Amino acid sequence: MLDCTPKEIVERSGGVINPAKACQPLGAMYAALGIHSCLPHSHGSQGCCSYHRSHLTRHFREPVMATTSSFTEGASVFGGGSNLRTAIKNVFAIYNPDVMAVHTTCLSETIGDDIPTIIKSAEIPAGKVVIYAHTPSYQGSHVTGFCNMVKAMIAQLSRADTNEKEEQVNIIPGFVDPGDMREIKRLTGKMGIKFIIFPDTAGVMDSPMTGRFHMYPAGGALVDDIREAGNSAMTVALGYYASGSPAHLLERNCRVPAITLKTPIGIKATDDFLMRLRGKFAREIPYELEEERGQLVDVMTDTHYHFYGKKVALFGDPDILIGLTEFLLSLGMRPVHVLTGTPSGTPGGPKGVFEREINEMLAVAGVESRVKAAGDLFELHQWIKNEPVDLLMGNTYGKYIARAEDIPFVRVGFPILDRSAHSYLPIVGYRGALRLVEMISNALLDRQDRDAADEDLELIM
Ligand code: SF4
Repeated sequence: MLDCTPKEIVERSGGVINPAKACQPLGAMYAALGIHSCLPHSHGSQGCCSYHRSHLTRHFREPVMATTSSFTEGASVFGGGSNLRTAIKNVFAIYNPDVMAVHTTCLSETIGDDIPTIIKSAEIPAGKVVIYAHTPSYQGSHVTGFCNMVKAMIAQLSRADTNEKEEQVNIIPGFVDPGDMREIKRLTGKMGIKFIIFPDTAGVMDSPMTGRFHMYPAGGALVDDIREAGNSAMTVALGYYASGSPAHLLERNCRVPAITLKTPIGIKATDDFLMRLRGKFAREIPYELEEERGQLVDVMTDTHYHFYGKKVALFGDPDILIGLTEFLLSLGMRPVHVLTGTPSGTPGGPKGVFEREINEMLAVAGVESRVKAAGDLFELHQWIKNEPVDLLMGNTYGKYIARAEDIPFVRVGFPILDRSAHSYLPIVGYRGALRLVEMISNALLDRQDRDAADEDLELIM
């Protein structure tokens, strides 16, 4: 971490110092892992694939299977067509997945490989599927890559068989942990509504230790279910950046009405999610969920005086930050710095939604704040030096700022590389909000305990 001079903001017209994002193919690889028996394939050099696999493995602490076109100098000059054709043949012969999900990298996009034509000319065994997404990493972030791979699933797999729609909902959960996907499925299941969720990394990136290696764990969305998504009565996209445009693509292609909601972090966003399901499918909210909500309200009331007025800096993925900002405001906290590395207006994605959504919430709450898309952690550190905060929330890389400024720190989002079990536990839904309250309480109160102990020590001495 470079040193940041307080009271001065270093203006930059270019360059990124300590990015608050990763590159597109990483998100595409994660999305592809959410299809059952799918092998993600990185069309580029080995280094890209190794980085994405290791980053995912470090966050989820699970083996991540993926193959690569293994570009060398020859492919860089003459194109990667023959590498990809050979890869497709080898992958099905050796690893035998049901689906191969190809995503591109900076290099293959710069060369301009014609991926659909290459795939058409490849030998694909009967009954097997190859899908592809363009994920040039010099645009957007890992969230954009996730979104592009989900769009590829819809464009290349989903079909509307008739104009009649089934009494079922599609849920696109966004770039969240498998623990969150399980919670979204649990909430929808409790409502008694038939659903298709994709991508679904539950059971893939949080699979149990059985003593035997499974190349393709039991979880993941079935290809048949993604096909069938074109016949559903509604699609709920959770998160504007990761899920919004795929849902609207399905609406255009298969006439499945789409709504985009915030990632259901906190009480209001979870209420919105459940009420939309209730409204569309005329189901009552079961008492069990009402009870969970009531428990959360109870805990929020009990802890409000710990949180009220505390200043928070948060960074990470835009969909997570939008939900998190709303929840922190409902706790009486003041999110004074909110920064994402993902650009707000990625091609084909929402434009300016990040700033608009957050600024609207802050204006209603009367909180003055700095909100920025396409920012970096160097800039966030400068903001914090100029306006100190009581709490920092974000991924693992925030710990350097937290250490330097001696701020309590809550790890949330992606990637979390220096802790374990986080990906099994949700931050969405009422239970996820309870977990967030506990994490924030622990961080703030540990600090208060430490300060009190220091005071006691001073008195003794
Ligand atoms: S930024 Fe480009 S070159 Fe670097 S890992 Fe990502 S895809 Fe590969």
